Amino acid sequence: MIKTDIIIIGAGPVGLFAVFEAGLLKLRCHLIDSLPQPGGQCSEIYPKKPIYDIPGFPSVLAGELVDNLMAQAAPFKPGFTLGEAAQDIEKQEDGTFIVTTAKGTQHHAPIVMIAGGLGVFEPRKPPIENIVDFEDKGVEYIIKDPEFYRGKRVVIAGGGDSALDWSIYLTENRIASEVILVHRSSSFRGHLDSVQKVIDYAEAGKITLVTEAEVTGLSGDGKLDKVHITHAKDGEIVKEADHFVPLFGLKPSLGPIANWGLEIEKNAIKVDTLDYSTNIPGIYAIGDVNTYEGKLKLILCGFHEGTIALQSAFARIHPDKKNVLKYTTVNGVNGF
Ligand SMILES: Cc1cc2nc3c(=O)[nH]c(=O)nc-3n(C[C@H](O)[C@H](O)[C@H](O)COP(=O)(O)OP(=O)(O)OC[C@H]3O[C@@H](n4cnc5c(N)ncnc54)[C@H](O)[C@@H]3O)c2cc1C
Repeated sequence: MIKTDIIIIGAGPVGLFAVFEAGLLKLRCHLIDSLPQPGGQCSEIYPKKPIYDIPGFPSVLAGELVDNLMAQAAPFKPGFTLGEAAQDIEKQEDGTFIVTTAKGTQHHAPIVMIAGGLGVFEPRKPPIENIVDFEDKGVEYIIKDPEFYRGKRVVIAGGGDSALDWSIYLTENRIASEVILVHRSSSFRGHLDSVQKVIDYAEAGKITLVTEAEVTGLSGDGKLDKVHITHAKDGEIVKEADHFVPLFGLKPSLGPIANWGLEIEKNAIKVDTLDYSTNIPGIYAIGDVNTYEGKLKLILCGFHEGTIALQSAFARIHPDKKNVLKYTTVNGVNGF
């Protein structure tokens, strides 16, 4: 049994920063994440994309932000249970909690901080009969490292920002040898300047844009070789390709947390904005996983929520101690 002061479910940016804020209050944390690495969406979906709205960083790659958050949390020696989904929670008679993962690892603490983001990651897959046969053999649902596509022929499908941005990135940086963007409509949902850029590249012959079309078949011997596209007017078009990357977003699924007796609204956990507590005393929800009036799913909002929630958690753990806010400039960072 792993014992700690705070069990944090989700090692995304918000969960990681909570370790630092907890450490300043002399509270120890243990993080559980179903992914094999920390960083949540930043590591899993867009590690090489720059983020522009982290205060004090005019631009920072999502992967770098995670590295920095890990370094910031390091003095407080957080524990990690990675590659295991938090499955069950049991409230003990003394008000503490035992959280058990799908692999049976048990964690015990007086406070549970849910920073589960979008929940357990599930990409939306296109309805292509044999797509599963080509997963990791040419079909990927997320672009983790663009270098993986160097010199390759890549078919991207989708009409949102991810599909547009990656088509532009792989073309602009001369990474892929060929980029084909397939979208079922002739209008896109992404940012207008990205749409314009894709159209410009298509006109210049740098991107092959196939609209009003869908990828409906895949073929290859042991690995992907051809992508079969059904066009509304022209019928079937076959393109030779090394990779097919459908970027249709992630299916938000809270996963096991949805059955823990928490108040859920629109697939997110309802919280009291006074301290981001849930309807179960001792359980808080911070970051993308929570909902309240005016909620913004932004990293900086999650940082704020975690900081406030931890003040409340401190008061629960130490009802007899008064916590006086101390600046880090005055007190420094005194690790464990
Ligand atoms: C392409 C893209 C671009 C973005 N750009 C920006 C931007 O520019 N600025 C910005 O502020 N935000 C941006 N965002 C949003 C930002 O990434 C999220 O707001 C942020 O990741 C939320 O952090 P989080 O820690 O709350 O959740 P997440 O990053 O989603 O992490 C949650 C973690 O919890 C884990 N988890 C969930 N359920 C369980 C369970 N039961 N057991 C164990 N682990 C579990 C998941 O595996 C995941 O690792 C962007 C998002 C995307 C997809």
